[in-house]
Amino acid sequence: MHLTDSVTTLSGVGTVLGEKLARLDIRTIFDLLYHLPFRYEDHSQKITISQIRPHTTITLVCKIDSLKNEYTKSGKIIQKAAISDSTGTFTAIWFNQSYLIRALKAGSLVTLFGKVDFWGRTLAVISPQYELGYSNLAFVPIYPETAGISSKWLRTKISTLLNNLPDDYFNSSDYHLSSWKSSLQIVHFPPNLSQVPKATDRLAFDELFLLQLVGLLHKQAWHHTKLSHQLHIDKSKLSNFITNLPFTLTSSQQQLVSQLCTDLSLATPANRLIMGDVGSGKTVVAAIAMYLAHLNNFQSILLAPTQILAQQHYDTLTKFLSPLNIPVSLVTASTKHTNLTSILVGTHALLNTKLALDQVGLVVIDEQHRFGVLQRTLATTLGKTPHVITMTATPIPRTIALTRFGDLDISILENRPDKQTIKTWVVPNEKRSAAYKWIHSQLTAYNSQLFWVCPFIDASETQTTVKAALVEFAKITKLFPDLQVGLLHGKLKIKDKQQVLADFSAGKTHILVTTPIIEVGIDIPNASIMLIESADRFGLASLHQLRGRVGRGTQASYCLLFTDTNTDRLKHLETISSGPQLAELDLKLRGVGDIYGTAQHGTSTYFKVATYDHLHLAPRAKQVAELVLPQLTSLPLLQSLVQKATIALVEPN
Ligand code: ADP
Ligand code: MG
Repeated sequence: MHLTDSVTTLSGVGTVLGEKLARLDIRTIFDLLYHLPFRYEDHSQKITISQIRPHTTITLVCKIDSLKNEYTKSGKIIQKAAISDSTGTFTAIWFNQSYLIRALKAGSLVTLFGKVDFWGRTLAVISPQYELGYSNLAFVPIYPETAGISSKWLRTKISTLLNNLPDDYFNSSDYHLSSWKSSLQIVHFPPNLSQVPKATDRLAFDELFLLQLVGLLHKQAWHHTKLSHQLHIDKSKLSNFITNLPFTLTSSQQQLVSQLCTDLSLATPANRLIMGDVGSGKTVVAAIAMYLAHLNNFQSILLAPTQILAQQHYDTLTKFLSPLNIPVSLVTASTKHTNLTSILVGTHALLNTKLALDQVGLVVIDEQHRFGVLQRTLATTLGKTPHVITMTATPIPRTIALTRFGDLDISILENRPDKQTIKTWVVPNEKRSAAYKWIHSQLTAYNSQLFWVCPFIDASETQTTVKAALVEFAKITKLFPDLQVGLLHGKLKIKDKQQVLADFSAGKTHILVTTPIIEVGIDIPNASIMLIESADRFGLASLHQLRGRVGRGTQASYCLLFTDTNTDRLKHLETISSGPQLAELDLKLRGVGDIYGTAQHGTSTYFKVATYDHLHLAPRAKQVAELVLPQLTSLPLLQSLVQKATIALVEPN
């Protein structure tokens, strides 16, 4: 038996049951083993017939004296059993389960679990669950079920699986962990409920541990088998470049630059994730790295998630690099021939053009989560592997970053000290009109601009309270007749998008009604108010990212969160201005699956056991993973679990 085998390889499980199990997301034996109970029925207090009282739930070991079908006056069929133990006789009744006549033979010993109530004038245990013989299950696991798959069925199958399991899949006792098998056994069949939390901890630890191993293996593959284009760092040219920037680098940026100098000069390719809020100065640092590649006669590629962002990066890089006569080109879908400039900017479409990639020394990826797969492709298709720097403004809690991105080196870029905090207010419905007045006065008196974000483009038929850009656009245009209102959303053609943004950028429009499409990277310094409709739809971290669109200029900046529910959660944004801290809160309030879901696809379905409360186990899981890694090849079961985790993480279904 292999854990990765299909459940249909189990005896008694054919395609029909297989399909039913799939409805519970149980496809492999592993899935079945990790289909955990969500509660337990307490069967620990067995009583005798003489102790039975009406309207109680009982566990009773008794003998079936007789069992027969009976018809009720309304023509329904019931099964009525006479039962007894040494203290007396009693009645058990089931409804429309004729098969019981064969299952519960007269004279057999059974354990019944159910409620005692009156059936007509007779006191009886009504429709009890039964177990043949004396059941020593103290706490009976109740699982998520589906038609045709009962908890009883699951329990029987899982119990058999557990019996055939080895104690562990690695030398866990060396690390003071309780055994894998006994933990699974306790979680499914606890002799005592107080043992469940510790056993659950072990299983949660496993998830974090396997995640670490997946990361470490990626890292190993990257660093041990790949050769980079080793860069020589010209210190004086570098410091010249930095001196000529229109500003002084923050100490956080300086640190990162020296880190990158080390990375790029190594014979193994860099694979570094730079995390920092929007505006923390990631792109500038990336430009410095690209400059260093240029000095070594290597090309650099900067990949952006959207065409608009590619354009913006192009503008930024041109600003910094063209004074030094370093040509930058923007590659679009319509770019025909290979551009051999030092620095190429584009979306992933860029990789489809026939570029001579062997001269690429450095790839900078903006927004990690959209490029995970791409990055892997890059790593496998080229001869020498370019250094890879990934930048993300997605607020990720530190624990998660260390856990999820175990394959990357991580740098955190602190916010610039001169960065203004964005004054944030949660605006309930009753304060809407007051807010409109305030907005109008701000926009007219200070000539500032506003983003008006709606969760949807079109009105939804099912979620009628959630604001849609197309609908609001019409309303807002009427609401502010003396102001110009623009509309930007994902369904517009790229040319129209560019026009809308250009108009807003040039100050021709005052309000830009839009969707979260503007979350990433749009840089319009004169926009100083961010208004978000149906804000309760978003996680705190996403809202934080959205508000990062303003506060980029010198004007005082504001964020208004319109909502008709959930104000308590949103109020955190009024007081907290750190992205990772808000992400941490999200994690606490919305659960692990959710945050991973936004940070990286796949992880949302990966965790079956671990919750927020288990994340403190992550550093230990990392340590143990590092210690166990060298033995991996001699631990086949661990190998298959790692493989399973890799699939779950990389290829989410
Ligand atoms: P990010 O990529 O992290 O969003 P950018 O690198 O695009 O940030 O920088 C945002 C803005 O701040 C740019 O206009 C950039 O020129 C400017 N900037 C970057 N670093 C500094 C700094 N140390 N001091 C002042 N301005 C800076
Ligand atoms: Mg940026």
